[in-house]
Amino acid sequence: MAEFEHEHVRVAVIGSGFGGLGAAVRLRREGITDFVVLERGDSVGGTWRDNSYPGCACDVPSHLYSFSFAPNPEWPRTFSGQEHIRAYLERVTDTFGLRPHIRLDHEVTMMTWDADKLWWKVETANGKTLVADVVVSATGPLSDPKVPDIPGLDTFPGKVFHSARWDHDYDLRGKRVAMIGTGASAIQIVPSIQPDVDKLTLFQRTPAWVMPRMDREISGAERWLHRKVPVTGTARRGLLWGIRELQVSAFTKRPGELGFVENIAKANMAKSIKDPALRAKLTPSYRIGCKRILLSSAYYPALAKDNVNVVASGLSEVRGSTLVASDGTEAEVDAIIFGTGFHVTDMPIADRVVGAEGITLAETWKGGMESLRGASAVGFPNWMTIIGPNTGLGNSSMILMIEAQLNYLADYMRQLNVLGGRVALSARPSAVGAWNRRVQERMKRTVWNTGGCDSWYLDANGRNTTVWPGTTSEFRRATREVNLAEYEVVRGPGAGSSSSSAASATSGASGSVAEAEGAVA
Ligand code: NAP
Repeated sequence: MAEFEHEHVRVAVIGSGFGGLGAAVRLRREGITDFVVLERGDSVGGTWRDNSYPGCACDVPSHLYSFSFAPNPEWPRTFSGQEHIRAYLERVTDTFGLRPHIRLDHEVTMMTWDADKLWWKVETANGKTLVADVVVSATGPLSDPKVPDIPGLDTFPGKVFHSARWDHDYDLRGKRVAMIGTGASAIQIVPSIQPDVDKLTLFQRTPAWVMPRMDREISGAERWLHRKVPVTGTARRGLLWGIRELQVSAFTKRPGELGFVENIAKANMAKSIKDPALRAKLTPSYRIGCKRILLSSAYYPALAKDNVNVVASGLSEVRGSTLVASDGTEAEVDAIIFGTGFHVTDMPIADRVVGAEGITLAETWKGGMESLRGASAVGFPNWMTIIGPNTGLGNSSMILMIEAQLNYLADYMRQLNVLGGRVALSARPSAVGAWNRRVQERMKRTVWNTGGCDSWYLDANGRNTTVWPGTTSEFRRATREVNLAEYEVVRGPGAGSSSSSAASATSGASGSVAEAEGAVA
């Protein structure tokens, strides 16, 4: 477009995981085709592209861990592996005609709100710049690996990598390997590599509650039925969803009810771990559910093998090829695998967004992440997060939360169109404050806050800014539509004409602020 210094789009979506691809499908369904999806990697898939470690699979059944608008009757297993989920996302990309919108190898380095033009300037690492009326940030909370700052790590002469950046060229066979961490990633990696390595030392800072994994192949007959009678797939999904909705109150209101689940996890352990000393090491001292409940029927059998040693202490120092735990235990290894999670409450993308007040999202959130209905942060007009603050789940499928947020996005775009002209919605501090006070009030009784553990759900201040303290239906209701009273309507010149046609007539304009209620009256 000749009148713009940079390419202009209605919407820039950042990331092409479940959130970004879902947003792209939803925008197209709303009749919006003037958008791009900026992806830093060389293919779509987000966390399901990046996590290719041995044994990587989802803990949520596939018929629920998939888009409601893109059912897959061919899921091969009840809990599908990473390669099947990744292939599913590739198919979604093709089926919904998303390829023309996707720009691979476009890592966003900076997004800056232009308060005069009422658009976001989006810069990418490959030197490109575009402007977008709306940004949908779908970078996901599990995208930037976290490696702890261990003294001496730089002196380690062997191989080091993170679970989400697996080095498939490195042959672990016959090696002495250290696995750091006992989260969802580590407990899948341990049984997958144990048979091949010479010796596996597991540095366990905190033991995990591990339930048996009821994984099985989905039979040909079942798949045939789901293919021929699609309503059976919908019913299966509905059942999986309903069971999980019924479990929510135990997590959010009555953690005591989770006690009996601990017995199932203990039995899962006792089946394989016969040594009482090892059982004691592996038994958690916090309420199940406080950290994510892990599923594995292979983890404990692997830990019982002769070539595995569990160090019941975190890694605290590296001296050459010797790893030293906090309790002084030493282990000499050839390779270190960090299963130490992600930058969730300090996500790097927040340093790359500068809002209306001229400060970054990271600065805005330095006291803790906060946004309106998981989407809009104060001072960041027309900038929306998919899987934003307090939208995570402890027991169900994140795809349900993503789809709820897509409803909100669709209504947001409709509201902008109805308002017309150069216009932006800016979340009111009072609305954001009220929403977060309600969320935090409900959080007080949850197992995540009362269960006696530390987890990635909590930020550096001990505040739970990641998990949704309710059912997915409640969140869906809360995000069904945008309540304009919760936003300020920021106006540019050309109000009354359509946004795209007015976009070219904004140079030198300064935005004015109208009360939301007034603007729609
Ligand atoms: P995580 O749950 O954050 O676990 C990180 C682990 O690293 C924890 O056990 C932590 O110990 C440990 N750790 C950190 N520093 C350490 C140190 N110096 N020494 C020893 N241990 C240390 O990370 P994750 O396993 O990658 O999982 C993150 C999330 O991704 C999961 O909660 C889940 O939502 C998702 N995920 C899902 C699946 C699935 O569906 N199957 C698989 C993988 C990941 P502490 O417990 O003491 O902090």
